[in-house]
Amino acid sequence: MRTGKSARIVVVGGGVTGLSTAWWLAQRGIDVVVFEKGIVGWEASGRNGGGVGHDYSPLFAEEQRLWPNLSDMLGYPTEFRPNRLQIALDEAQYNRAKDAVRIANHVGKEAQALDLEELREFVPFVGDNAIGGFLFKFGGHANPQRTVQAYAWALQDLGGTIMQNTEVRSFEVSGGNVKTVVTDSGVFGCDGVVITAGPQTRPLLAKVGVFIPLALARLEMIVTAPVPLMRVGIIGGNGLYGRQTLRGNLAYGGGPHEWLSFEEDGHKRRLPTTSLSQFIAKRLQQLYPKLEHIRVIRSWAGIVENTPDGRPVLDRLPYLDNVVVGTMSSVGFGLSPASGRALSELALDGTCNFADLSSMKLSRFDGLATDWQAAKGWTPPERSHTSTMARVGQ
Ligand SMILES: Cc1cc2nc3c(=O)[nH]c(=O)nc-3n(C[C@H](O)[C@H](O)[C@H](O)COP(=O)(O)OP(=O)(O)OC[C@H]3O[C@@H](n4cnc5c(N)ncnc54)[C@H](O)[C@@H]3O)c2cc1C
Repeated sequence: MRTGKSARIVVVGGGVTGLSTAWWLAQRGIDVVVFEKGIVGWEASGRNGGGVGHDYSPLFAEEQRLWPNLSDMLGYPTEFRPNRLQIALDEAQYNRAKDAVRIANHVGKEAQALDLEELREFVPFVGDNAIGGFLFKFGGHANPQRTVQAYAWALQDLGGTIMQNTEVRSFEVSGGNVKTVVTDSGVFGCDGVVITAGPQTRPLLAKVGVFIPLALARLEMIVTAPVPLMRVGIIGGNGLYGRQTLRGNLAYGGGPHEWLSFEEDGHKRRLPTTSLSQFIAKRLQQLYPKLEHIRVIRSWAGIVENTPDGRPVLDRLPYLDNVVVGTMSSVGFGLSPASGRALSELALDGTCNFADLSSMKLSRFDGLATDWQAAKGWTPPERSHTSTMARVGQ
């Protein structure tokens, strides 16, 4: 079905990465359409921990510059709150957090150890099992669903189009360029394509003959009834990450990663399991003993894609001049304002004008062993209730 429709740039995937990219493109007056096979932000982008602050990334400085201003830039609230706390319950956790302080200081950010009295001023719920805490005066957290909505509305305010429930199925290539995008609602012409399809990036790139090494993992989060607001909303520890919502709920997630095959990336995998939710709840109780009896009111799961080195790929595709790919390897929410800007520049200018993206190139995986996933132990285990319980108990 030829629709006779076209856009200068087509973005495939309406998560935070795609929506941010489209918004940056629209800011430059580009006619852009986002195709989303479901509803915007329904996947990892609306289900994550909301953490911001990836100090190892070449996009870190831009991430940190943009977040405090993002609500104003978009014209809608993201509920961003600055700074981050880490609680240590044992020596190993303490030493890991101390390393994170060292790295933060190395990149010029303020971070410091807190004694227990100082820690309790921030977090009244810590118990006698805590041995210390750390305050990171950068990064922070935001509300993932609000943020997705803010990007989407801001994009539409600039004249960008979002087509939900529209799946991109393939691409028509001619003369080394993608000329049209084939969707389940028809065929759209374009001058350029940005693929930000999260876990589906690998099968989509395969359609144009490009291999990208990605492994899928399933993660879960739980939400408690509200508790009094704390001064810093994002507090990690005991193997958990999480945030306090403005209403006071604690939304927490943590490992283990449950490795999935691409065939398993279906609706059912977004449903939480009792065993993993209980495992997170148990660790949350240890983190906040004074909240031992707080109710868990909600839980969910989300799927993330992971590259072999755990870092995103932001790159133009080899052999296809007008295709750019952005796959975020589990750290895409916090980086989204900067990754979207970078991808928009790769699509329009051929290069990123504010950061060196050489460490994010796809070619770093050239020559990767075909059994890389198995070598890392990132392969799906047998699917059974028993096997999940066994892993959780480890
Ligand atoms: C539980 C959990 C906690 C996390 N915590 C954090 C955190 O604290 N901080 C952080 O930075 N990151 C976190 N992450 C990771 C973060 O959520 C993701 O890296 C980020 O959301 C990726 O965004 P994305 O837009 O690239 O991909 P996605 O959110 O996966 O969006 C891709 C979109 O593409 C669409 N799509 C796929 N195929 C097609 C197609 N063929 N046609 C049209 N549309 C298609 C999908 O429907 C989807 O909406 C967490 C993730 C999870 C699951």
